[in-house]
Amino acid sequence: MLIYFVTFIFFYKYTLPIKPLPSWASKMRLLSFYFWENLSILFPSIKFLKNTQMTSNMTKKKKVNKSTTYSSENSKTTTTTTKNPCLLDLPDLVLETILEKLEPPDLSTMACVSTSLKDISLSEFLWKRHMKEKWGRIIGSAAQREWESHIATQKESRNYFFDGGEGGFLVKYLSKLMPVVVFKSSFNGKRNQMELSSDSSIVSFYRALETGKFWFPAQVFNRENGHVGFIMSCYDAELCYDSHTDTFEARYPPHGTRAIASESGVTWERLRAAPVDNSPHDLLISISLNDLRPKDHIEIQWRRNKQFPYGWWYGVIGHLESCDGNTTYCQCHTSNMLVLEFKQYAPGSRWRHMTINRRDHREEGNETEGFYGGIKKLYDKDDISMWQQFWPAGILE
Ligand SMILES: [Zn+2]
Repeated sequence: MLIYFVTFIFFYKYTLPIKPLPSWASKMRLLSFYFWENLSILFPSIKFLKNTQMTSNMTKKKKVNKSTTYSSENSKTTTTTTKNPCLLDLPDLVLETILEKLEPPDLSTMACVSTSLKDISLSEFLWKRHMKEKWGRIIGSAAQREWESHIATQKESRNYFFDGGEGGFLVKYLSKLMPVVVFKSSFNGKRNQMELSSDSSIVSFYRALETGKFWFPAQVFNRENGHVGFIMSCYDAELCYDSHTDTFEARYPPHGTRAIASESGVTWERLRAAPVDNSPHDLLISISLNDLRPKDHIEIQWRRNKQFPYGWWYGVIGHLESCDGNTTYCQCHTSNMLVLEFKQYAPGSRWRHMTINRRDHREEGNETEGFYGGIKKLYDKDDISMWQQFWPAGILE
C-alpha cells in the first residue's frame, strides 16, 4: 500500500505541466506530429506545448498500439497503415471555430505556419471581433478616416515610385542605371514590401495600433495628468499606443501660441472616441435643449477664446434662482432660461454656474469667462458613470 502511495506521489509530481496550458491548447490535440515539428522550428518556445501535448497523449497511443496488434493477429485483413490527423484536414467550419477561440498573438503565430493557415488566420471576420473588443471604445469614425487616409497616402507613394505612368519615377530612373533583368527582380521584391505596409485589412490596422506605428485621434479625460485647469473635461488629442506599458502617449493640439502639450502614460480608462463627428474647432448645434430638466446630465463645449479648440465639460442642469428645488412646484423646465451647474467648483466660484437661453443658444461667453458652445444631453448611464469616475476628491475653487 505504501509503495503504491509513494509511486502515485512521484508520478503526480513529475508528470504535471509546470504551468496550466492556455485555454485553446485543448483544441490543438488534433494537430499532427508533423505540424508540431514544423511549428517548433519556427517558434522554439512552442516545444514546451508540444512536449506536454505528446506526454498527455502517450498513454492513449500505447493503448491504441496494443489494440492494433491484437486485431492484426486475429485478422489478416486489418489495415496497419493509418494517416495522422492534420489540422488542415478539418472542415472549414470546424477549423474556423477553433481559430475563433484564439487570441491575437496566437492567431498571428498560426499565420506563420503555412500559406493556407495564414489565409484563414488573417481573415477579416476573425479580426473584426478582436478589433471591436480591444479598440472599439476608442477608435471612432475620425480614427477610421485617418487610417484610410494613411493607407491611401501609402498607396499613392507606392504608385508614384513603382507604377506611375510608364513604370513610375523609380522605375524610369533605375532602368537607366541597371540591366532590365536585375532591376525587375529587385523591383518585384520591393513592391511586395510596399504592399504589406499599405494593406488596408483589419489585421493591418490592428497591427499598426498595437505596434504604436499609427497615431490616431481620440479624446482624453482630465488631460495633462489631471492638471487642475482640466478636471472634469475631455479634450481631443493624437494618441499612440505603447504595448510595453499598456498606456498611450498623447499630443494635444496647440492652444494659440502655447506650445503643443504632450503626456505619456495615459491609461485606457481616460480615453474615448469623440462623441460627435466634428473638428474640435467646430461649434456643435445643440439639439433637444427643450427636453432638458433639472438634474439632467450634460456635456458642453467650452473654449477659453475663439482661437482655441473646444473641450467637452461635464455638468448638470440646475434650478433657476427663483425656484427652491422642490420638485412638486418646480417649473424650471418651462422657462427659456437654462441653468448649467458645474458642481466640481465651489459655491461662489465664477465657474460654478452659467445661464443660457435655450431657445436660441449657439455660443455664449466672453474673453474673461470663456465661451460655452454646443450642449449634449447624456442619456446613457455608462456615459454618465464614465464622467463621474473622474470626480475630484476635493472641491475646486
Ligand atoms: Zn426648479
